[in-house]
Amino acid sequence: MQAKETKCPWCDEVIQPKEVTTEGKHGKIQELRCPKCDGIIKARLKDLPPI
Ligand SMILES: [Zn+2]
Repeated sequence: MQAKETKCPWCDEVIQPKEVTTEGKHGKIQELRCPKCDGIIKARLKDLPPI
């Protein structure tokens, strides 16, 4: 799936966000980052941890 072009709130450029997955304490976090300034556009939990 291709990420939509969006305007970066940090550097004010229209960019194609890159997807980065990081391991957090509460599971995997999927982040959308700006390729120009590396600012986080959006972040969400990828997998919910088992109860
Ligand atoms: Zn940016």
